Amino acid sequence: MKQSQLLIPTLREAPADAEAVSHKLMLRAGLIRQLASGVYTYLPLGFRVLKKVQEIVREEMDRAGAQELLLPAMQPAELWRESGRYDVYGPELIRLKDRHDREFALGPTHEEVITTLVAGEVSSYRQLPMTLYQIQTKYRDERRPRFGLLRGREFLMKDAYSFDRSWEELDVTYRAMYAAYSRIFTRVGLNFRAVQADAGAIGGEGETHEFMALADIGEDTIVVSENGDYAANLEKAEMFWEEPAASGTEVPPMNRVHTPNAHTIDQLCAHFDAEASAFFKTLLYRVDDLPIAVVVRGDREVNETKVLNALGGERIELAEGAEVERLTGAAVGFAGPVGLSGVKLLVDREVQAMASGVAGANETDYHAENVQPDRDFTADLVGDFRNAAEGDLSPDGSGPLKFYRGIEVGHVFKLGTKYSEKLGAEYLDESGRRQPAIMGCYGIGISRILSAVVEQNYDENGIRWPKELSPAAVHIIPASIKDEDQRKLALELYDRFRSAGVEALLDDRDERAGVKFKDADLLGLSFRVVVGREAAEGRVEFKRRTDADKVTLSIEEAYERIC
Ligand code: ATP
Ligand code: MG
Ligand code: MG
Ligand code: MG
Repeated sequence: MKQSQLLIPTLREAPADAEAVSHKLMLRAGLIRQLASGVYTYLPLGFRVLKKVQEIVREEMDRAGAQELLLPAMQPAELWRESGRYDVYGPELIRLKDRHDREFALGPTHEEVITTLVAGEVSSYRQLPMTLYQIQTKYRDERRPRFGLLRGREFLMKDAYSFDRSWEELDVTYRAMYAAYSRIFTRVGLNFRAVQADAGAIGGEGETHEFMALADIGEDTIVVSENGDYAANLEKAEMFWEEPAASGTEVPPMNRVHTPNAHTIDQLCAHFDAEASAFFKTLLYRVDDLPIAVVVRGDREVNETKVLNALGGERIELAEGAEVERLTGAAVGFAGPVGLSGVKLLVDREVQAMASGVAGANETDYHAENVQPDRDFTADLVGDFRNAAEGDLSPDGSGPLKFYRGIEVGHVFKLGTKYSEKLGAEYLDESGRRQPAIMGCYGIGISRILSAVVEQNYDENGIRWPKELSPAAVHIIPASIKDEDQRKLALELYDRFRSAGVEALLDDRDERAGVKFKDADLLGLSFRVVVGREAAEGRVEFKRRTDADKVTLSIEEAYERIC
């Protein structure tokens, strides 16, 4: 690529309305231009980076056994009515009509289309499991399109959909996708975290994780325990105790139990120091007329110990109906069979211990047992993790929390049978019975990745592309194109790289060296070779974009460092 012939319209200043660093730099480096709010053109160098991201995603998806196809962006509204999403999706869905007044939507996502396809083409268990994916332009009329490619209204997404025969099989698929995502985000050079997310928000019943690129501009807050065992987005962390019972587990009805001498939560909290009492307050829910239930989710053994440690309490085995003589901190019991653990009772010497299964209630002398969040009450959070400071104990009790800002670059999600049932993606199992496929869906914001990578890789002079995404591997810059030795050596190097299959950008413009260096910093290619004064001796200046200093090398040496 010869720079004199390429459309790389660099700018000295970014337009005033560009706020995010990545947005400014991508405009200034001539990678993108805005056509309308949230709608962008990819110029030649920007498009090259976009294609590199796509290639990495393709390689890893193919490696994980997914098959690529391409679905239409234009989707009949009818499909969206069948799935029940036409009315609930809201104004983000771009709707249009054809000349016959038939309604359509521009795909913001493709569950409806893919499920309908599979419904028509798959009929036997022998054809499953199967994962299909596409890389395609998506449309979402975002309320606040902003930060360039970070939140567009037309953007490029990779979306995959899996069809399995059981939840166990989905588990395997999900883990394969999760692993592929980790490889993808590592390869594109992102500093990221996979965090637990909230399935309820997407109307699913299964596990879900978001892949978050750490960046201050990120619109999401993620909370991570210091030892890294716990990582979730804020919404998920806020609802940690709201986890429904594992499917298939019978939960007996909630029961109001008379327990003389039991303290109310407020009374109990009064016995603890501020930290402990704040912790418990974050666990409080208002139960319709039974005032308060307290529940904590997670592994019983681990939590019990950790919560006790965090509160400075001591462990006492509480038998049903036991009387507790003395407690220095908190007695924390965990309710059993529903996978819902109840922080049962905080007791001082007068308070009677509760039987297993009790969730706790805030009414003097009463407690609720077998409380099932969602079934028995709607969450009305009293304490709120949003207001919680860093350092609060993580929901799994693994340690104090740290907060980070993140950009959601990917999302993996166990959907279950929501779409397959509504849209008829069923197959005949081994005994000839009709079964809905168990689905998963997996998205990656291909165009968003560009912005996220720039947010993490820049300095005051411009972008610093990670090697795998650099628009070309090496930028060859003759200090003066008019100098015959420099011109010849630069061209020689350029040809050499090209015949070795290394992408090179040759700055053959008749510009001052300073201008070219400034542009080179702005564009941020991974390697730079300046052909200058020592060209006649066959020597060049070599520098990585991330290096502070250049070194003088023979062209052989420079070639070796890059290839
Ligand atoms: P967000 O929370 O940022 O609105 P989302 O949860 O609505 O994203 P998904 O439906 O999970 O997005 O879509 C899969 C992926 O597509 C996201 O993880 C993100 O990387 C990307 N994406 C979503 N919306 C946009 C957008 N408006 N512009 C660019 N990329 C987007
Ligand atoms: Mg969204
Ligand atoms: Mg999201
Ligand atoms: Mg999402």
